[in-house]
Amino acid sequence: MRRVRIAVVTLGLVLVSCTQARNTAAGGNSSAEAQSASPAASSPAQPAVPGPPPKFDSNRAFQYVKEIVAFGPRPIGSQNHKKVEDYILSRLKGDEVEEDAFTIETTEGKFPVRNLIAKFPGTEDGIIIIASHYDTNYPLRDTSYVGANDGASSSALLLEIANQLRGKKREGYSVWLLWDDAEESMRLPWFDPESLYGVRHLAQKWQADGMIRNIKAFLLEDMIGDADLHIERETNSTGWLEDMIYQAATALGYQSHFFARTSQIEDDHMPFVERGVPAADLIDFDYGYNNVFWHTPQDTVDKLSPKSLEIVGMVTLETVQMLDHR
Ligand SMILES: [Zn+2]
Repeated sequence: MRRVRIAVVTLGLVLVSCTQARNTAAGGNSSAEAQSASPAASSPAQPAVPGPPPKFDSNRAFQYVKEIVAFGPRPIGSQNHKKVEDYILSRLKGDEVEEDAFTIETTEGKFPVRNLIAKFPGTEDGIIIIASHYDTNYPLRDTSYVGANDGASSSALLLEIANQLRGKKREGYSVWLLWDDAEESMRLPWFDPESLYGVRHLAQKWQADGMIRNIKAFLLEDMIGDADLHIERETNSTGWLEDMIYQAATALGYQSHFFARTSQIEDDHMPFVERGVPAADLIDFDYGYNNVFWHTPQDTVDKLSPKSLEIVGMVTLETVQMLDHR
């Protein structure tokens, strides 16, 4: 994916809050006092919908990140890519899985592409899609780049969400988990015509057969494992869906990890945004100072934390429940 711009208004707000923090320190208030004075810190989080909060096994999800990364770089057309496909499928045994396989022609040659979709049926008419790409960048194929945060963290998150959905009756919309392929650009820097192949193929197919009208929301997960987690408010995303995500985060007490920054990012949600599907990109696009670890061999597991996977996993599942009740 690529960032188009950071909203200037957010930078202004950050500057204001820094000034306030300095003023507070000068006034002698410790941050501990400031925290205990906050009603949010002293009252337990309330669920946004009836029933217990969602469950998510963060250690199991983190183990999946390590296992995906252990295959090494997984660019399209590689043996490692095939191994990761098989690994994902091996974790979905007994689930209803659709494979959407096709071939792309690029300036680098022809490549097989395969989207994997695990379907968990619900009682209501409509589908919520939760998506993550699992490939790593083709131009970085001969480096040690493994995309621990970029591709592996979100793919692992979906595997743990599958564990939570499996074997339970869904009172709500069907949930489809989509591991999409060939998100990364064939060239660096980002090259629009040769990227997002998997989702573009699916959006076209589902528009042609009418399925796209059944999609109630498209929730994209990308770069969600950073130990220093700050999910962007993303301006290509659907406003009411972003508001719902923030409400879900607030209900779980995780709002401090959401939407302090506003960015415009072109990512796997775009083919669905362009077709009028409500869509949101859950992404932390500040991975290391100034995003320095992004698309480098420094994108490794030691930068990530199980807690970040848990925060995003639980907020995603809470959002799904809110969509059920909408
Ligand atoms: Zn990437």
